[in-house]
Amino acid sequence: MKEDGKNSYTIFEPSPNSSGIERLTLENSIRKALRLEEFVLYYQPQIDMLTGRIIGTEALVRWNHPTLGLVPPGKFIPIAEETGLIVPLGEWVLRTACIQNQIWKEKGYAPMSVSVNLSSRQFSKQNLVKTITEILLETNIDPQYLELEITESMTMNVEVAIEVLGRLKELGIQICIDDFGTGYSNLYYIKLFSIDRLKIDQSFVRDIMTDSNDADIVATIIAMAHNLGIDVIAEGVETKEQLDFLRSQNCHEVQGFYYHPPLPVEQIEQLLMKEMEI
Ligand code: C2E
Ligand code: CA
Ligand code: CA
Ligand code: CA
Repeated sequence: MKEDGKNSYTIFEPSPNSSGIERLTLENSIRKALRLEEFVLYYQPQIDMLTGRIIGTEALVRWNHPTLGLVPPGKFIPIAEETGLIVPLGEWVLRTACIQNQIWKEKGYAPMSVSVNLSSRQFSKQNLVKTITEILLETNIDPQYLELEITESMTMNVEVAIEVLGRLKELGIQICIDDFGTGYSNLYYIKLFSIDRLKIDQSFVRDIMTDSNDADIVATIIAMAHNLGIDVIAEGVETKEQLDFLRSQNCHEVQGFYYHPPLPVEQIEQLLMKEMEI
């Protein structure tokens, strides 16, 4: 990316003590990219390891930049969050993911869920529930097939969270805690927020085979989820050994490079088409 010259260097690597000009440049580029529809969603399959079938996908945004190519979210999501542009971008992601999931359903593929990452800026926004209600109506997606991923570290007012999550649950959509284990794992809130699923953070999964602490943490999270009657999925699964460990702990839902990386729409459709033949 640096070879692209001075401009792209400053656009994507604003120094922390910069005057704000670089940030402003990036902010304006994101705004323009939204208008020009340069963002694109990739979908990473979530697999039931017992059947090998796709049970859902996670929508992950990329910026299809005209000169830089595919820019990963880590390069622009933080600025989008800082500037508040994550609100329109997040709404675009939600709508696009729901439309796509509905297209797949109408093409006759086995029903599957779509998971969308939510940032706390979107969450605190008064009209999140209104926006999602509109998107459900507009796209006709069955709400049980839409899952929102929130993180434990999201800074939010507990009262607001209870109210908003309660209203989202009333709409019939699913709530998953992403990166589980990296923030405050408050069991009380898991109950209070009526969480449907926990996603074990990839940092624990990565070291399952080499760090017995991480293996213990993963086993504990799985057991706890089972006890609470909550679904559990492991992310960042890359090897057969990790898969076998998760199977031995009765965690059968997985996401990771072992099966598939995030893929563009056409490649997901090829996978779904192959599944129909089975
Ligand atoms: P995340 O939600 O934790 O997403 C999982 C990340 O892990 C993705 O990176 C995915 O490509 C990567 N990954 C998947 N399987 C494996 C694996 O087996 N091994 C390894 N090492 N990595 C794996 P990606 O797509 O670069 O996304 C990074 C982060 O950007 C996401 O982390 C999420 O926090 C954020 N993000 C992406 N899309 C959105 C969005 O639409 N809205 C918001 N608010 N955040 C998003
Ligand atoms: Ca996620
Ligand atoms: Ca995650
Ligand atoms: Ca993460």
